[in-house]
Amino acid sequence: MKIVLENLTKIFPSRDKKAGNEVVAVSDFNFTIPDGKLIGLLGPSGCGKSTTLYMISGLQKPTSGRIYFGDDDVTELSTENRGIGLVFQNYALYPHMTVKQNILFPLQNLKGKDKLSKETMLERAHEAARLVQIEELMERKPSELSGGQQQRVAIARALVKMPRVLLLDEPLSNLDARLRLQTREEIRRIQKETGITTVFVTHDQEEAMSISDMIVVMKLGVVQQIGKPQEVYDSPANLFVAKFLGTPPINVFEGEVADGKLYIGEDHVMNVKKVPDQKVYVGIRPEGFTLDKKGALHCKLSNVEVMGRDVSVVSTNEASLNPVVRSIIDADNKLDATAETVRYSLKPHKVFLFNKETGERIHFEVK
Ligand code: ADP
Ligand code: MG
Repeated sequence: MKIVLENLTKIFPSRDKKAGNEVVAVSDFNFTIPDGKLIGLLGPSGCGKSTTLYMISGLQKPTSGRIYFGDDDVTELSTENRGIGLVFQNYALYPHMTVKQNILFPLQNLKGKDKLSKETMLERAHEAARLVQIEELMERKPSELSGGQQQRVAIARALVKMPRVLLLDEPLSNLDARLRLQTREEIRRIQKETGITTVFVTHDQEEAMSISDMIVVMKLGVVQQIGKPQEVYDSPANLFVAKFLGTPPINVFEGEVADGKLYIGEDHVMNVKKVPDQKVYVGIRPEGFTLDKKGALHCKLSNVEVMGRDVSVVSTNEASLNPVVRSIIDADNKLDATAETVRYSLKPHKVFLFNKETGERIHFEVK
């Protein structure tokens, strides 16, 4: 089931009536979510992710704009009638019910023509439990389960109604690091196995990048960029997106383009075609540096961290906006850790220029 979001906007009235500033939580969101895909909705806290998800679910009514599931306009439809499965950060299971009863609950509430026989309900509950691999826990109470297991029950409960759309709001945030990794792989597997169109909300870029078919990056209610995770990483639309994606984060420098030459401080680091003379921000991915005795970029070496396969070189540069410059280089490279200066040449496809006022990307060609 594809989902169409058309000019979707949500404005909240001010919480403080006297101050009178309304909050534009989501502004003119347009996107067709392709059928059967997992979409990662990504951005810092407060950027409008949950509000977007709640509008898709029907829990919140858009101020303006429309929502379609396939060709059906569902904008005015109640949550119960949208055919969605919802999973939140806090698993919200019924504590006095067993796992089985929790999973059965949404089915027992079906009325009229949707009413199911007992056998069908049990079959569905077991199928959902199988999908999330908790069949052996069916008779336990939630208090007898780990956080990861509880979240699986919550996912099973969302799946048991065979929803057209699965909506997950930061479902892994309450889990510890190892479980988070494992459960996100599980969610991906379940999503692929069921083929349900899924929207996955998270503030964790790595989480979104690792399991999404496409990501939507938001800031202050406004969509910044939509694309496949690798494409967005490789070609960020603006400085915000460039900074939000990637660990370690992108290195940002004050720079200047003059007469086709790109400068960081005094260093003429690259030639760039078709860019008018101007001051710019220069973003360089940690993997965009090559150790080079004759390299144009000079940094003051702080320390070298060996991390098995890779080496992380920490240095400083007066033009850097980040406190340190962090590069990731292959461990085979020999670097004198006692040297004062480290010199780099740059991989042009890992270097991005941004407008200093707007943060918009400035495209260039390499000479
Ligand atoms: P996210 O999920 O990305 O953290 P939200 O969608 O929850 O962000 O919130 C987006 C913005 O809308 C925030 O500024 C938040 O304070 C505001 N907001 C969310 N819900 C309400 C509400 N019910 N009333 C007023 N403002 C709200
Ligand atoms: Mg939220």
